[in-house]
Amino acid sequence: MRLAGRIAAVTGGSQGLGAEIALAMAAEGAAVAVINRRNRETADEIVARIRADGGTAEAFQADVSQVAEIERLHADITARLGPVDILVNNAGILQPCPIEDVDEANWDSQLDTNLKSAFFLTKVCVPHMKQQHWGRIINVSSIAGIGGFPESAAYCASKGGMNNLTKSLCLELAPHGINVNVLAPGNIVTPLNAELRADAEWSAKVRGPHPVRGRFPARRRHGRRGNIPWPRKKPDRFTA
Ligand code: NAD
Repeated sequence: MRLAGRIAAVTGGSQGLGAEIALAMAAEGAAVAVINRRNRETADEIVARIRADGGTAEAFQADVSQVAEIERLHADITARLGPVDILVNNAGILQPCPIEDVDEANWDSQLDTNLKSAFFLTKVCVPHMKQQHWGRIINVSSIAGIGGFPESAAYCASKGGMNNLTKSLCLELAPHGINVNVLAPGNIVTPLNAELRADAEWSAKVRGPHPVRGRFPARRRHGRRGNIPWPRKKPDRFTA
């Protein structure tokens, strides 16, 4: 029970990765705020599972892409459970579409949900964490924030931003006993990607070869490419 006495807030805690994180936090003794946007029933289900195992949890609903909602949510969690010691910024949306079809609403909804929410949730939780000189913030990014997915510029930008947001907050908050970490999961079967997994064309684009492959001449086995000798001379010990 490494988290006994701690209060953990998990955004997007009603399903997918967030639900598993919420259950794991509760199994370690934390009281968990299970936060989701719309579906009250799925959040209640996770809360019921935690309580059935003897844990403490409450369901909260908020649209974390809006700062006013974040402030209301924070006040609500503090009143019902207590001040947040562990914040998991997990809520995220993925809305791929070709660049020509990306409008301001598509861009803003992904950046606001996936990135802005993490900053402003951190901001409201930090005063208590600083006061007790202990806090843990876990940001959920993605492999899409390290490499890239086609037709997913906003999502990839939000996740790349999450990585550097974490690095900045890490430096600012470490002296106050607050650890900030980021996770970058690969593809995991969850409701987030249910429609995309069924879309063979999109899957092929994501899994397909590097986009510039084929634009370069195939490697020659002998001779020189520019000024790079090919094949490179092997050290003698391998040619003996
Ligand atoms: P999911 O769709 O199953 O769950 C997302 C959760 O976020 C839901 O509970 C939803 O209510 C919540 N949410 C979305 N918008 C919200 C908002 N505006 N306000 C409050 N809550 C909101 O997704 P998942 O696959 O479990 O993804 C969780 C996180 O992991 C996301 O940040 C996602 O980008 C990331 N991720 C997922 C994968 C994957 O393959 N599933 C891979 C890499 C990263």
